[in-house]
Amino acid sequence: MFKLIFVVIVLLESIWEMVLLLLNVKYSTSKDAKVPEVLKDKISGEDFEKSKTYLKDKAKLESVSILVKLFLTLFFIFVGFPYFEKFAITISNSTIIQGLIFFGIYGLISFLVNLPFKIYSTFVIEEKYGFNTMNGKTFLIDSIKNIIVSIILFTPLIILLLWILGIDQNWWWKVSLGYIVFQIVLTFIYPIFIAPMFNKFTPLKDEKLKDEISKLLKKADFDVSNIYVMDASRRTKKQNAYLTGFGKSKRLVLYDTILNYSTEEILSIVAHELGHSRKKHIPKLLVIISVVYTFMFYLINLVYNYILNNNVFEIKMPYSAFMYSFIFISSVIFFAMPIINFLQRKFEFEADNYSAKLLGTPEYMISSLKKLVKENLSNVNPYPLYKIWHYNHPSPEERINYLLKMKK
Ligand SMILES: [Zn+2]
Repeated sequence: MFKLIFVVIVLLESIWEMVLLLLNVKYSTSKDAKVPEVLKDKISGEDFEKSKTYLKDKAKLESVSILVKLFLTLFFIFVGFPYFEKFAITISNSTIIQGLIFFGIYGLISFLVNLPFKIYSTFVIEEKYGFNTMNGKTFLIDSIKNIIVSIILFTPLIILLLWILGIDQNWWWKVSLGYIVFQIVLTFIYPIFIAPMFNKFTPLKDEKLKDEISKLLKKADFDVSNIYVMDASRRTKKQNAYLTGFGKSKRLVLYDTILNYSTEEILSIVAHELGHSRKKHIPKLLVIISVVYTFMFYLINLVYNYILNNNVFEIKMPYSAFMYSFIFISSVIFFAMPIINFLQRKFEFEADNYSAKLLGTPEYMISSLKKLVKENLSNVNPYPLYKIWHYNHPSPEERINYLLKMKK
């Protein structure tokens, strides 16, 4: 019975994802879809058509990816995991080593299955629309670095998990605590150690812009002395900026792809990022994620004990039972995604609000948004339910309307 429920939940997740994806494409690319009134001055009919075909191309790939992932999960559940467990047991007597082999095989297969999708997305789709600036060599080096960083980061975490599983049947709060600490450590080390492995960060050279940003930082009472430009253009033409780090290591990072914006537009984007920081959005998000994960590990623990005690699948080791329960509960938690995204969309409005107030006018935030939409070929008409599910930013139309209301 439980096996059946398990498969049904996994199937439901994939079906739901597929339905949302198709509804979104149908809605956004239909003949009735129009450029929202507030974007008409900037988005031409040609831009609009291009954004629609971009959306269609991405959705085609995504739908194949959903199917392949579903088949892969079913393969793991019925064939893979029992086999990996048997194999791991023949290699070593230590459950920690067995667990590392088990998770290692799982990670490797998942990586290899994902790889063709990543290659197709980068070198066919992004290339076709002129976003991709990577060559094969950069892609290969990135992939190798990604593997190395993942191994270095996750091996200690998995060892800790395996150790806790081995000593305690009610491990959920210990594992959860370990995971939260890991998340916090990651937010500290990411900007200092990991990001520089993938990109070059050079201090902003444009003295005039630097001056203007410094004035803005002073006005907002921010103590940030490090303003960096990141060479994002070595991979993509897409644009962004962010503020990261804590205390003395706080740094403002501008993608080099954004530097052709007007000074006021860049300031409005910087002010938006300052808004995220002032309103403490990152710590708030960490708290929310911690609560969700603790709840999730609690549920995983329940399912874990059930699977081990009732011999549901042809496995007997803690690490295999953990994998099954993790996959099962992830599929359940997927249905809670709208809550986290709702909060993040609220944060975006707050940051836009902060930016408009700091600059004294929403005008520049609005023109930056229009530019971002135009140059990134963003979907200007997302299907409402799709947005609720997947968007961690409000649609550009909503953001502009919100800013226009502020003006009055
Ligand atoms: Zn934001």
